[in-house]
Amino acid sequence: MSLIFSKMSKHLAGHKDLTSNNDVIKVNDIDTVFIPLANGNSSNFDVFVKAGDHVKVGTKLGQRNDGLVVPVFSSVSGVVKAIETHKHSLGEIDHVVIENDKKFENEQFDAFDWKTASREELVEFTKDKGIIGCGGAGFATYVKYQRPDGINKVIINAVECEPFITADYKEIDAYVEYLMTGALAMKKMSEAKEVVIAIKVGKKYLTDKMRAALPDSSVTVVEVPDAYPMGWERTLIRHLEKKEYENLPAELGLVVNNSTTAISLAQALETGMPIVNKFVTVSGDALSKPTNVEVLVGTPVSELLKIAEVNTDEVVLINGGPMMGSSMDNDEFVVTPYTNAITVMNEVQTNAIPCLRCGACSDYCPAGLQPVRIMQAYRAKDWDMVRELRADKCIECGLCSYVCPSKIEVSNEVRLAKTIIARMKK
Ligand code: SF4
Ligand code: SF4
Repeated sequence: MSLIFSKMSKHLAGHKDLTSNNDVIKVNDIDTVFIPLANGNSSNFDVFVKAGDHVKVGTKLGQRNDGLVVPVFSSVSGVVKAIETHKHSLGEIDHVVIENDKKFENEQFDAFDWKTASREELVEFTKDKGIIGCGGAGFATYVKYQRPDGINKVIINAVECEPFITADYKEIDAYVEYLMTGALAMKKMSEAKEVVIAIKVGKKYLTDKMRAALPDSSVTVVEVPDAYPMGWERTLIRHLEKKEYENLPAELGLVVNNSTTAISLAQALETGMPIVNKFVTVSGDALSKPTNVEVLVGTPVSELLKIAEVNTDEVVLINGGPMMGSSMDNDEFVVTPYTNAITVMNEVQTNAIPCLRCGACSDYCPAGLQPVRIMQAYRAKDWDMVRELRADKCIECGLCSYVCPSKIEVSNEVRLAKTIIARMKK
């Protein structure tokens, strides 16, 4: 791929002060959790429990079975009431419904001595504990480390570029030592020489805190511009390395993981416990009490909205942040191991006007696409052109809609075009 240095990112109003200074509220007093049998875009799972089984915190409930191995675990002790379908961003999929006995009995796990373990044993541990990308995608972490040939640098992504979200910052603040352990474990798994932790400029408190906790000179902290989507790995690598890759960062000797993933890995190494709770930002301009919560995986989002208090009727509920999250019809879905935010925004009616052909959407697209041309091809049902314009490379960042002076929801149309290509491929 050729180098494309147009704008490709933009400073956005962050609104992070809505939640960045508040304490994290711990929520574990819920009666029932609903653990989704899903990972990434897959709900192909083997199930290991049935109604009536007693489970503990950390009991393996099921495992993805379509090529990737990603187990899911109970976040409470109690009794399995049912395996039944509930709403999820993938649609209606199976969830393990567990009545929480509130005793929080743990499965007996040992710490894992990662310093003496072999690289392969450490990767296997990561796989067995279901460590996944916690930045929103949920991609199985072990896959990035299976064949580390030529990896020379691990980049830990603590950028958290999307407006409103502060959950990663809160986790780093709470668990900076775990972040460093996770960084070293990832260095070992990848056989890299160094780890770079990237954070947005202007986070002095966290930057200083991380620098004070650095374990040795192989781990450094770098500040990156306050621009969106600086947290997308292609944009981040473009900024840090001044290079482009075709398919994977490994082509440049790089592996990228989210800071919360590093923390989760370190917690599992020390306690044996997989990801059973999550820091989640609940924010947006339609909430009276935006906050960060630490919740059990499987907690209904309705419980979080009770805490944050929706203050109007006409709202848009988003699973994730306002730019990359998915709009949801209602609050009947739950926190997953890779949920990082729930955003509730006032519904704003915008009246789009015809395209001005200003080219702003193409200038800012971080994937180097021409969103306006994809939109036109989609409207004309010209699927060959949609494919030629590489709509499948859209990362659904929403920036083309954001910058459009005509208020056209360009990203929605590109997303639909992308769906058509995916269907045609199938
Ligand atoms: S939503 Fe897709 S097309 Fe629009 S700017 Fe982002 S990557 Fe480009
Ligand atoms: S930003 Fe909006 S008005 Fe400008 S070219 Fe793209 S679609 Fe047209």
